[in-house]
Amino acid sequence: MDINIDDFFGNVPDLAQTADAAADRQADYEKNGGGGKGGDGFQRFVGVMSVKNPTEIVRFLHDQPVVAYMHEIYDPGGKPPYRNAICYRNNCDFCAAGDEPKWKCAWILVHKNHSFTGGKEKKKILQPSIKVLLKGENFAGPFKERQKQLANYKHTFESFDFEMKQFGEGFGTKYSFSEIMGTEPLALPEQLPRMFEESKGKTLEEDRAEARRVFSNPEFAKIYLKNFLAKMCDVSERPRLIALATAGDAAESGRPNH
Ligand SMILES: [Zn+2]
Repeated sequence: MDINIDDFFGNVPDLAQTADAAADRQADYEKNGGGGKGGDGFQRFVGVMSVKNPTEIVRFLHDQPVVAYMHEIYDPGGKPPYRNAICYRNNCDFCAAGDEPKWKCAWILVHKNHSFTGGKEKKKILQPSIKVLLKGENFAGPFKERQKQLANYKHTFESFDFEMKQFGEGFGTKYSFSEIMGTEPLALPEQLPRMFEESKGKTLEEDRAEARRVFSNPEFAKIYLKNFLAKMCDVSERPRLIALATAGDAAESGRPNH
């Protein structure tokens, strides 16, 4: 699939804002050190989604993704072994280390069939969860195709829940999206913010209010997402990952495609 970032969604992504947020974060870290003040509450209950099941049920909070350049660094000790870090574009240490950034699309969505094992009986518990989905070209292509088809019926990815299917693996992974007709407009389900229980600096009510704000408007979701991406690789980890990027340069040919 051959998609150019500039014609992908008809607009050049606003990388300047993302870089600014990342630079702020770096400055804050250099001044105050690690740990910080706990950050924003919403950040704490959002996870990054890895597509594990052949079929996932999802609800996109916004039809248009946020697009950003990311460095994908091979980290042998990490789980998963690839770490994403935002590219600062100008003055980027990963670029200076010889790593080439790739553009990626990000959405906030509700992973409706997310489950975890818990309770005394170690049972599988269904827990719809808010997640960030971060994907490259081989996802963005089929997404855009489906988006065009939906537009013929005056629908968007915000209109329905979707069955998101994954076929194959690695670089050849393919995706398809089919809408689940009759799904309700999205409301913040009461069970979602279970991760709020551990309060860090903000009250439960403040965290919930913040979550409602993000949910209330796709534009808020996108602003939130930009901040999320900027913070994705904690600044305290950057030096280690930059060193890995430098070391990984020679091993690049042995790197699996995905
Ligand atoms: Zn870079």
